[in-house]
Amino acid sequence: MALSDFPRHPLTFGPSPVHPLPRLTAHLGGAAVWAKREDCNAGLAYGGNKTRKLEYIVPDALAQGADTLVSIGGYQSNHTRQVAAVAASLGLKAVLVQENWVDWPDSVADRVGNIMLSRIMGAEVRLDPAGFGIGFKDSWTRAIDDVKERGGTPYAIPAGASDHRLGGLGFAHWAYEVQQQERDLGVFFDTIVVCAVTGSTLAGMIAGFAALEEAGGRPRRVIGIDASAKLDDTRDQVARIARATAELIGVGRPLRDDEITVLPGWAGDKYGIPVESTLDAIRLTGRLEGVIIDPVYEGKSMAGLIDLVTSGEIPADAQVLYAHLGGQPALNAYSGLFTETWA
Ligand code: PLP
Repeated sequence: MALSDFPRHPLTFGPSPVHPLPRLTAHLGGAAVWAKREDCNAGLAYGGNKTRKLEYIVPDALAQGADTLVSIGGYQSNHTRQVAAVAASLGLKAVLVQENWVDWPDSVADRVGNIMLSRIMGAEVRLDPAGFGIGFKDSWTRAIDDVKERGGTPYAIPAGASDHRLGGLGFAHWAYEVQQQERDLGVFFDTIVVCAVTGSTLAGMIAGFAALEEAGGRPRRVIGIDASAKLDDTRDQVARIARATAELIGVGRPLRDDEITVLPGWAGDKYGIPVESTLDAIRLTGRLEGVIIDPVYEGKSMAGLIDLVTSGEIPADAQVLYAHLGGQPALNAYSGLFTETWA
């Protein structure tokens, strides 16, 4: 089977914008840096990377006759907010288990940003005290059972829409979209930088680019930057999903280990807690480009990009595509970090 054989329910506006970041590029003094913007890829509650993944999962949910999408994430999960938006737009219900993934002193984390948006969109939000983990959880199984007991038909979507047979397809499709945009722009992105936590964004890209390479495309580096601070879990999950997705879309060879890269170094000690390099990256990107990134995911992957470009680990003649995966609503839970005043 090829990617084009899988049904896709359009939820995005179409190809997400690609544009250069000229002032950041000049400031870093090395490789040319561009961005592809999943943070404005859809009109559904600010969009983001999960909206793309859900384009391939929704047809399965509808085919199964589901009336309720059930998913799980942290209080400030971007994923569950996108599930809520997609459910609302399809006339389905959403039940969301929101766990206490981040030990952060800001007491509004269960009220503002993503979780508030999910409530506005009518999702049933269930707060749960469990901590961070990308695996399967009892609370999620309970939520699925509860929907069944009420006579509903649940469709279960795991954390980050990742550990799901179809979870990698959205970003395999992204790879094809990049290739088309490169043709239109007359540029080739030899290096992609992307944040990884639950893994199917990076895994889907790896599988998609492997398929393109097999069809005669030039090879490129896809660099995942860990933001989970649980590197082994994330690496294993990325490798597993990348290999399964490659097989699903008909890549005729097993993926090599060197095609699967998740770099540590910018996550800090804990998921969801920004470190100095995260905050520096957020301010730099905001001040040079007017582009907003968040303290949980994109601030960490941008910190990685900044270091890799300035150190020359990504060479000066490279064309780098930064995958901006969304996530800005969570900034509202971190307002205490940004209290600059101009006297
Ligand atoms: N960036 C943002 C804004 C996210 O919401 C997520 C979700 O986890 C990621 C990056 C990481 O993507 P993935 O979970 O597919 O590895």
